[in-house]
Amino acid sequence: MEMSCLWTRRLLLGANSVLLVKHPAIAFSTLAATRSIQPSPLISLFPSSRRSLSTTTAACSPPLHPHSDIGNGAVNAAVAAAIPLESPKMLLKGMSYTELEKWVQSYGFRPGQAMMLWKRLYGNGIWAHHVDELQGLNKDFVKMLGEHAKFKALSLENILTASDGTRKILFRLDDGLVIETVVIPCDRGRTTVCVSSQVGCAMNCQFCFTGRMGLKRHLSTAEIVEQAVFAQRLLTHEVGSFTNVVFMGMGEPLQNIDSVIKAADIMVHDQGLHFSPRKVTVSTSGLVPQLKRFLHESNCALAVSLNATTDEVRNWIMPINRKYNLGLLLQTLREELGLKNSYKVLFEYVMLDGVNDSVDDAYRLIDLVQGIPCKINLIQFNPHCGSLFRPTSTEKMIKFRNILAEAKCVVFMRYSKGDDQMAACGQLGKPGAIQTPLIRVPEQFKMAVNA
Ligand code: SF4
Repeated sequence: MEMSCLWTRRLLLGANSVLLVKHPAIAFSTLAATRSIQPSPLISLFPSSRRSLSTTTAACSPPLHPHSDIGNGAVNAAVAAAIPLESPKMLLKGMSYTELEKWVQSYGFRPGQAMMLWKRLYGNGIWAHHVDELQGLNKDFVKMLGEHAKFKALSLENILTASDGTRKILFRLDDGLVIETVVIPCDRGRTTVCVSSQVGCAMNCQFCFTGRMGLKRHLSTAEIVEQAVFAQRLLTHEVGSFTNVVFMGMGEPLQNIDSVIKAADIMVHDQGLHFSPRKVTVSTSGLVPQLKRFLHESNCALAVSLNATTDEVRNWIMPINRKYNLGLLLQTLREELGLKNSYKVLFEYVMLDGVNDSVDDAYRLIDLVQGIPCKINLIQFNPHCGSLFRPTSTEKMIKFRNILAEAKCVVFMRYSKGDDQMAACGQLGKPGAIQTPLIRVPEQFKMAVNA
């Protein structure tokens, strides 16, 4: 939170400025809507005394109605004096429940009405997208929402259905960019929604299609939460209730940690979407400082994309390893998980033929995870256009799995889902003509890949 305040201050006071902000109320709304979006440099035209008031409040709490008695009186007076006739609408899904309650109170309504609204946004199978869908609420409250609230953070672009029933949903953002969300119906009544946290990704993992796009921007909290809400609204009647959320779509979630932690908190709220924290999993390629912060601040599950047993291979296929190597990553997990009760990290291991799937790799993996409460998913590689790698054969995966199982590791094999619609793990996104450059293949692996 402190970091976000600093960041926002920088945003408003940045020297290389492009976007002009003349008005505190506009600054409030802009910041609320874009808090986690790639920083666009702003110039503030306020005198410094007013500037400090608006930046602090905007970064740390939701914008209040300018005539509210709640919160800092000086701030409200400053805003009231300068409110434009038409202030932008507030995107409801970007707010935590506490923030929504404050915002509702700032218009003179009771906290209980915030709860009734929250339940209609996230619970009871309503997933309201429009003020007309708010049955049973006070008329004045509904009128205020019609004037000041925005319900939808995404627009539906398309739904593709794979032969195994996996759905890939394309959502358009307000700025025209497109993200992808995947819904995976499984046996035994489990349905998982896989959400994106960024448009593209900066991590450049060599086996991942999304990595070819580079990073376009972070998603806001509202854009992340809306994926789970909108997907349920569209598909629950076909695939049943959603039981799990995984942050394994486009992007490195922990590079957008403020929005991701807040979105995960909204998803587990017991009066709203009400997912179990154990069934909301955030996956990372291994950003060590953010991983520590996540383990301290969130009670949701963590997955770490490991994919190699030596720094040499991981430096190549996951360049983040050059900054946070295997030793540091695993020692951090060992220490942090030692402080938690009954918490297991999920290691994901995408199996690449001739690269990371040898018997030696299996034994090294057993050594690496010693002392870390964990489960291991062995994932079949999903090829995509232009990919260097080939999937490990099923026989070889089973052999690898058996070595781990004999050493008492908890290990599962995961096969492709949705690959005929490019909806499988590592296949999301649409790289443009200019793509992130591939890393030079180490000499000893040139025979193993399509280099
Ligand atoms: S695997 Fe994940 S972290 Fe790596 S490039 Fe793809 S989306 Fe980014």
